[in-house]
Amino acid sequence: MKYPFLDLALANAPYLSRLQAAASAVIAGGRYLHGQQTAALEQRIAAVCQTAHCVAVSNGLDALRLILRAYIELGKLSKGDGVIVPANTYVASVLAISDSGLRPVLCDCNPTTMCLDTSLIESLLTPRIKAVMPVHLYGTPCCDHSLLETVRRHGLLMIEDNAQAIAARSALPGLAGTLATGGLGHAAGISFYPTKNLGALGDGGAVTTNDEALAHTVRALANYGSDRRYHNIYRGLNCRIDEIQAAMLLVKLDNLEAETSRREAVAQAYDEAITNPLVCKPKRLAGMRQVWHQYVVRVATRDHFRDYLASCDVGTDIHYATPPHRQPCYSEFADLSLPETERLAATAVSLPVAYPVTAETAREIARIINDYDPT
Ligand SMILES: *Cc1c(COP(=O)(O)O)cnc(C)c1O
Repeated sequence: MKYPFLDLALANAPYLSRLQAAASAVIAGGRYLHGQQTAALEQRIAAVCQTAHCVAVSNGLDALRLILRAYIELGKLSKGDGVIVPANTYVASVLAISDSGLRPVLCDCNPTTMCLDTSLIESLLTPRIKAVMPVHLYGTPCCDHSLLETVRRHGLLMIEDNAQAIAARSALPGLAGTLATGGLGHAAGISFYPTKNLGALGDGGAVTTNDEALAHTVRALANYGSDRRYHNIYRGLNCRIDEIQAAMLLVKLDNLEAETSRREAVAQAYDEAITNPLVCKPKRLAGMRQVWHQYVVRVATRDHFRDYLASCDVGTDIHYATPPHRQPCYSEFADLSLPETERLAATAVSLPVAYPVTAETAREIARIINDYDPT
């Protein structure tokens, strides 16, 4: 493939010697968990998300599970409570809710943003719905006046799934400037899965929040439920991050701004250079910094379009071909009709955006896309 969709070895190649040096230092230091690398990572991620607290954990799914479990321990959620979640998301958002004994309430997506349709939330609310989990899908912040008003008026918890959007920013009503995703709601989960915008060389994740009690509870729950050694206040879990992964992430964090700017330049090149009327491009949202975890276009003849691109040596992917409510594990949702999500599942195609794609590469791919003609 001349233009692979994603090649992680290539994506990590620029960091190779620094990653090796950082791994060697951790190995030689003899401290593999709960050390300086993890503490430094937490400080850096809290700064990126502009939050008072960050707890680094094992992965993004665990970050979300720990937040929900902590809210149950703190008495702010009870088993069986409903949590509104977009139907167009990676299944992990929904898994976090159902695993915590809570009830996922699937909400259709807005065809413009492809994120949660915030105008539908009010119509779904019942007294048992206590939280909403906006997902900043594809790196697009999902936060608007309607969402914040609904959250405020009904006293809902807002838990951001920030797995795909580290370093994204959103304008907020009544506030000058923008705020980082991960600090827009009450708590947020991030993923450092290797393919994410800030990817480890294995699993990792983090919880960001301005709520000190929540941070304290998450930290205890992630470490067997202990608040100090051999003293267990909760029936906890083991959801820690390795010092080696924290060290890998610290190396890559130095480049996060440059990496995000590269993604922005690639997206802008696609925006400008794709002119084929059969291809619907993602929208630029006013007041937002979108960080382009994926660049998702929509094409009616999607599978034919992907075959054509593959024949021209352009790799693509689909996010997501089978939405959570069509997964066998969620058969209770099989009869739900979520038309925008289903339309997206049938038409979405993700174009290459990961390093080493540049604006120039994107213009080459755009020329191939502009030559597409299914007839
Ligand atoms: C990747 C991802 C997760 C899960 O993160 P892991 O680190 O893979 O557990 C959750 N939600 C979304 C939207 C994701 O993209």
